[in-house]
Amino acid sequence: MSDTDTLFRCTVCGGPEIARSTMRGDGVRVLFCAGCGMGVVEHRPADTAHFYTDDYYHRAEGSAHGYIDYEFTAEHGLLWTRVLIERLLPAGGAVLDIGCATGFLLSRLGPAYRRAGIEANPAAARIAAEAGIDVLGADVLAPGLAAAHRGAYEIITSIATYEHVLDIRAAIAASLEMLAPSGVLVLEVPVISPTRSNADWYGSSFEHIFYPTERGLRSLFASFPGVYFTGTETAATGFSSTYIGLATRDPARFAELGDLLAAMTADDPTSLAEDDARLNLAYRVVHEFRPTPARIIRLPLLLERYYSPSLGKRLMQLWHGDASRAALAEQPWRRAPSRGTLVRLPLLLGRAIGRTLLSRLRRLRAA
Ligand SMILES: [Zn+2]
Repeated sequence: MSDTDTLFRCTVCGGPEIARSTMRGDGVRVLFCAGCGMGVVEHRPADTAHFYTDDYYHRAEGSAHGYIDYEFTAEHGLLWTRVLIERLLPAGGAVLDIGCATGFLLSRLGPAYRRAGIEANPAAARIAAEAGIDVLGADVLAPGLAAAHRGAYEIITSIATYEHVLDIRAAIAASLEMLAPSGVLVLEVPVISPTRSNADWYGSSFEHIFYPTERGLRSLFASFPGVYFTGTETAATGFSSTYIGLATRDPARFAELGDLLAAMTADDPTSLAEDDARLNLAYRVVHEFRPTPARIIRLPLLLERYYSPSLGKRLMQLWHGDASRAALAEQPWRRAPSRGTLVRLPLLLGRAIGRTLLSRLRRLRAA
């Protein structure tokens, strides 16, 4: 038994036993709790502010921390979140984004939404504030912050943030405290997948503290009385898995979340209602990068409402790039990748974008 074994106490469940450990690319050990399955770095730093300095959202090539092109990552990473918010609160409402960066997600919500954010990076927080976002603070765990906003938000989003905090259980407790009675917490975190490569999580992003597993997340949420939790492992092409989780205290809201999650993750959007199909395409095509002919045929539905230059850039990657071949390589037909299929996909995508642009032009002429 090593020193680590004798000192280990799980931040999430308090359990004393390590089930297994993995060495990260920078030599830091990640320990997985036997009790709840959550993973955490062997030695948590005293504080994490030094990771989120001004170059975090514009990192240098080769740096192990931060983003190379935040706007682009945000566009395909956050579109599904925006579509989901608009489904859950069609008439607007109070939305808090934990880890809001420059306010990318919140800025895209219309004036019907009361928008608040929490952001650790001072320069990004300033830009968010200038865009009219109410920046509550730098850290969800700041003393008194959650109590000051108890029950205030109908939706709280936390996309790629909980893995960075020093205490994931306390951060989720604070988030749940700020949720209105029928409010919804929408989260996405890296997940250690039992079936897919975890190379992105162990080989980069060395600022991460927590390494959630699905079991770890489910047992974490089960420890909050009266909170319902559901979710799904995402499998973005060419990228390690993340986990999208949805939590609420309201049973009716939870039933609705189950329906939305089913629509979002459905394999074939052909028979989905238009609103459900938009959510499905934002998730399956834009976020997961998994185009199929059936998905691309319905893509104009999404583009009519959400087209932007960086979304266009994302779709161009599908059209031209290696990613398209990578996506095809993982599709069920990969054992016989007929030339017809390889040609058909970009053609369908081109037609979908062309149809969207044409109908926009017609509307402009009519106006
Ligand atoms: Zn544990």
